[in-house]
Amino acid sequence: MSLVTVGSVAFDAIETPFGKTDKIIGGAGTYIAISSSYFVDKQNIIAVIGDDFPKEMIDKLESKGVNLEGLQIKKGEKSFFWSGKYANDMNSRETLVTELNVLGDFDPIVPDSYQECDYLMLGNLSPEVQLKVIQRLNNRPKLVALDTMNFWMETAMDDLKKALKKVDIIIINDEEARQLSGEFSLVNAAKAIQKMGPKHLIIKKGEHGALLFHESNNVFFAPALPLAEVFDPTGAGDTFAGGFMGYLASTEDISFENMKRAVIIGSAMASFCVEKFGIERIENLTVDEIKDRIAEFVDLTDFDMHHAI
Ligand code: AMP
Repeated sequence: MSLVTVGSVAFDAIETPFGKTDKIIGGAGTYIAISSSYFVDKQNIIAVIGDDFPKEMIDKLESKGVNLEGLQIKKGEKSFFWSGKYANDMNSRETLVTELNVLGDFDPIVPDSYQECDYLMLGNLSPEVQLKVIQRLNNRPKLVALDTMNFWMETAMDDLKKALKKVDIIIINDEEARQLSGEFSLVNAAKAIQKMGPKHLIIKKGEHGALLFHESNNVFFAPALPLAEVFDPTGAGDTFAGGFMGYLASTEDISFENMKRAVIIGSAMASFCVEKFGIERIENLTVDEIKDRIAEFVDLTDFDMHHAI
């Protein structure tokens, strides 16, 4: 039931209508690792950072049970840096800066202790690196999930298409699904993307929830929790992916019914993430907080149709 995650571990600078941060800890790999750590005992990360990355944060990940054997620290180099600005409605964001730094020539190492992993989460980074991780595992995991973004579609589409042929599930947002497929309707986009490789697909729609397309005939919709204040959506997608894959890995069940539960768990974890800047809200959650939040999701969609039909 172990999970291997590859993804950026980074610095972010974020601007929202509620405020602005200097460099804070971010990165897709960081959000995934923290979120999944609430579900799996064994979470193994593959990533690269520079020696500018704070030691306390590395210790924090370790204290959450994250195996850091696959984390490379490059002396004298800078960590990945990303900066983004959200529009007033918080639904769209503009990337202001992407400095690849150590990610530019990242050659992922898959330590021997990661080789038996059953679940693989290819977080958002170059498709070339995502492919290398798949190739460097001796056995194919039970479930391989991939996240990506417009940046990689624009700069590395050929490699992305190769990676898609090798994964079981892709987790992307609605805008990315439209860009990848060239289809506006999300149902048609899902069909087109399934033809590119992944049997399953999750399309995240921000405050409007998430759609799960499981094989060719099963569809499930999960709402997002209506929150009075969305403070910072950065990392919500990665936090979703961490909860989703962490739950699947811990239950070892990839049926449609269990994937529905995993989507709700991913949505619950993402709903915490947006409440504060960066990883602030998700780094110290309690099990009770998570259980209560999941119960709120169940209540949100619970209704009695008994007398209506
Ligand atoms: P999300 O809001 O879920 O799209 O994820 C935001 C996180 O992705 C931030 O913490 C960034 O550090 C990271 N990120 C942004 N652009 C990239 C990129 N091109 N490659 C890898 N990670 C990225």
